Amino acid sequence: MPLPIRSSCAGLLFVVFMGTAHAADPAPLRTELTLTHIATDKWRADYVFAEPVTAIELGPQIGTYRKQAWRLLTNGVDLVVQDNNESLRSNKPLTQLSVEISRYSNFELDQYAPINHFSDGGADFYLGFLYGSLGQSEHKRDMAVTLHLQGLTGETVLAPSKPGADLAGYAYFGPSKPARMGNANVIIDPLAPAWLRDTIADTTAKVSQFYEQAFQRKLTDTPLISVAMIGFDGEPGSISIKGGVVGGGVVYRLQGRGLMEDHPKRRAFMAGLVAHEMAHVWQNNLARGGIGENDPWIHEGGAEAIMLEAMRATGIFTEEMADQYAQKLLKECDDLKDDVTIYRGFYACGFKRFNSYPMAPVPLWRAMLTRSEDSDESYSESMIQAILREQPATQKAQQHSEHLQ
Ligand SMILES: [Zn+2]
Repeated sequence: MPLPIRSSCAGLLFVVFMGTAHAADPAPLRTELTLTHIATDKWRADYVFAEPVTAIELGPQIGTYRKQAWRLLTNGVDLVVQDNNESLRSNKPLTQLSVEISRYSNFELDQYAPINHFSDGGADFYLGFLYGSLGQSEHKRDMAVTLHLQGLTGETVLAPSKPGADLAGYAYFGPSKPARMGNANVIIDPLAPAWLRDTIADTTAKVSQFYEQAFQRKLTDTPLISVAMIGFDGEPGSISIKGGVVGGGVVYRLQGRGLMEDHPKRRAFMAGLVAHEMAHVWQNNLARGGIGENDPWIHEGGAEAIMLEAMRATGIFTEEMADQYAQKLLKECDDLKDDVTIYRGFYACGFKRFNSYPMAPVPLWRAMLTRSEDSDESYSESMIQAILREQPATQKAQQHSEHLQ
C-alpha cells in the first residue's frame, strides 16, 4: 500500500539566530515582552524597551503570517517588507509597542509553523517570530528578552523549557493538562486517534528510558512534547507531519486522512519519528556545547543511528524492521552519491557514516556528549575523529563486532 508521507524535521535547521554580538557592538537592549492570550484565537504581544527604539528588524518573511495575522496597536508603527525581510518601523522613537495576533493556520515548508491550533482551542505559539534586533537611530542592538506569558482564566500556559534568544521555542496555551510520559510532559490533541496516542506514549516512555541508560545522564529539563491534530482532510492514505525540536521541546503538527487508519507501518513510522526527535533532545541535553550550526548530517544522521539502536533495544522495531530501515537509508544515500550536504543526505548519508565508524553509535554519542559539554564545542567531524583515534584498539574491535551483529 502506498504511504505518502510528507514530513520535515524543521527543528534544528531553522533556529532563529539573533546575530552573534561582536566586541564593538553595543550591548543588547533589555526588552520585556508579554504575550497575553486575550481571547480564543487572539493574542497580544506587548514590548517594553529599556531605551527608545525606532524599529524591530524581524528577519525573513514568514509567508503571509505577519501581514495577515498581525495588527499593530501602536500609532505610527507599520509593518515594512524589504528584500523579503520584515520589520516594524516607527515614525518616532518609542519605548512601548503592541501587536494583536490572530489565528493563522498556514505554514511554509522550510520554516516553523507560526501557530499550531489544537482541536480543543489550545495552541502552540512560536515565539521566535516575535524576536528580532532593535533599530536605534543609526545602529542595531540585539534584543535581550525577558518573556512573560499570560493565559486565559484557568488555562494551562507552558513556556519552552529552554527559552532564549537563539532557541525560541513554542509556548502552549490551552485547556489540556500535560501528562507525564517517561521524563517528558506530553500534550496530545484530544482529536488524535487512539493508535497515535498509544504509539507516542509508548515510544516516549521506552525511548526516554533507553537514552537515559545509554548516555548515562538524566534530562536536565522536562521537555514539553505537544501534538496538534490539524484535521483528517486530503487524499486517502495521506499523512502530513511537520515538527521538530525547538526550545528544548518537541512540537508536532499532524494532518491527513491517512491518520485515521491504524496500520503497523504508520505506527512504525510515527515511533521512529518520535525516537528521532527525542534523540535531538538528548543531543542538546548538555549544560553547554551540543548541536551547532554546521554539518547537520552529524545531528540528523546521528539521530537516525541512535534512534535505530533505541528501537532495537526496546523491541519497538523487530530486528527485521530495524534492518530494513537501515538498508533503506543506506540505499537512499547511495542514490544521493554520499552527499551529506543536501537535505535528505543529512539523514541517509549521515546515518551511513555513523553506521561505518569503528565504534557503535551509542558509545560514540556518549563520548560526543561528554566531550562537547567539557569543551563547550559543538559536535563536529573533527570531534568524532578525535574520539575514534583515542579509542583503545581492543575496545574498538569488540564494539565493531557488536555493531555488526
Ligand atoms: Zn532531525
